[in-house]
Amino acid sequence: MRKDVVVVGAGPAGLYTALHIDTRKVTILEEHGEVGSPKHCSGIVGSLVAREISKLHPKIVDAYYEKTLFITPTGKIELNFKKPFAFHVNRPLLEETLATKVESRGHEIIYRAKATPVNKSSVKAKNTVIDFTTLIVADGANSLFRRFLVGDTPRYLHGLQLIVEAKNIEEKTLTIIYSNINPEFFAWIIPLNDEEAQVGYASSKPMEKVLYKLIEENTDLKLVGVKERYGGLIPVHHPLKNPVLHGKIVFHGDSVPLIKPYTGGGLYYIFRLSPILGEYVDRDDLIPYSYIYMRTYYVKNSLERLLVNFFKKMRYYLPVQLISKLNKLSFLSLNDFDEHYKILFKALVFTPFSPLLLFS
Ligand SMILES: Cc1cc2nc3c(=O)[nH]c(=O)nc-3n(C[C@H](O)[C@H](O)[C@H](O)COP(=O)(O)OP(=O)(O)OC[C@H]3O[C@@H](n4cnc5c(N)ncnc54)[C@H](O)[C@@H]3O)c2cc1C
Repeated sequence: MRKDVVVVGAGPAGLYTALHIDTRKVTILEEHGEVGSPKHCSGIVGSLVAREISKLHPKIVDAYYEKTLFITPTGKIELNFKKPFAFHVNRPLLEETLATKVESRGHEIIYRAKATPVNKSSVKAKNTVIDFTTLIVADGANSLFRRFLVGDTPRYLHGLQLIVEAKNIEEKTLTIIYSNINPEFFAWIIPLNDEEAQVGYASSKPMEKVLYKLIEENTDLKLVGVKERYGGLIPVHHPLKNPVLHGKIVFHGDSVPLIKPYTGGGLYYIFRLSPILGEYVDRDDLIPYSYIYMRTYYVKNSLERLLVNFFKKMRYYLPVQLISKLNKLSFLSLNDFDEHYKILFKALVFTPFSPLLLFS
């Protein structure tokens, strides 16, 4: 069977790119029976991405936050903004909306179609070999195609997520808990409404009991019951320097993996790159896309990774103390939440002055 553009994976990367392909016929292969499932993501984005997502459907962005409470081993730090700086995205609704829009453009989504790589010109799904002109690999963090076609060893953190019923929820506050037990990441409390919150933790091995302990010892949140429990992989291996292979295969989203290295967030890069990728797939020329990716996004991301590695070696929560001071001095902008390299860079610039800032 021959298809023009084949996309592996109906997650946000595959779907949002397909939405930006106008002149070519797209076939999306999705291994599950529906989009958005199983869930794994916390769905937190900054204002730039929230604005784009709100244009798709007014209900996808369903909560916002004006305050962050950082709990570190050396104390608590509150960051208050005058406007919402972070937003919660209803991930299943995001994928459902994208899938409907993609199909209404005349593209097709084939469900229960787990794709496997065959060679640089074909994939196999539902016992059929499909030859493609262009292949977009958007099969997520645990990318089979990346392992087969690139052949390196991925590294992950395990992200655990619980939807809990709880008391004492501070509705507009994101709480981030750092601990010395797990110095490579943090735990989070994301209020969904006044009775429910999403709590989670990312670490090299699953640590549900540690999560409960951190919440109990550091916050006033009283857990009443767990309504849902799910999780996923946060890729921490190096992103591909060039996402285009053989001029006809392109990796996108968590398969690259291009994510914000400090928080594991992948939606920012997906929402920035998908329209550009769609445009170059339309032109049937992926080489200019690989230059834009490499010169702008890979460079930004490398800077973020460099700074995150630096802060990991110092203390993972060091940027928080500096950022709090920067915020008081009005050095932060709302868009910094999306563009982490700016926030981390500002923190780095002030690192030599950190003793002065921290004790001022
Ligand atoms: C615990 C956790 C919390 C997170 N929180 C945030 C957050 O707050 N903000 C943020 O921006 N990001 C967050 N992320 C990251 C975000 O979820 C990802 O960056 C994003 O989902 C990546 O989108 P994607 O389309 O590349 O991959 P996915 O969303 O993983 O989609 C991949 C799709 O491909 C399908 N698929 C896989 N293999 C095949 C195959 N062989 N054949 C056919 N179909 C296949 C899957 O079924 C899936 O539908 C979080 C991740 C985790 C694990």
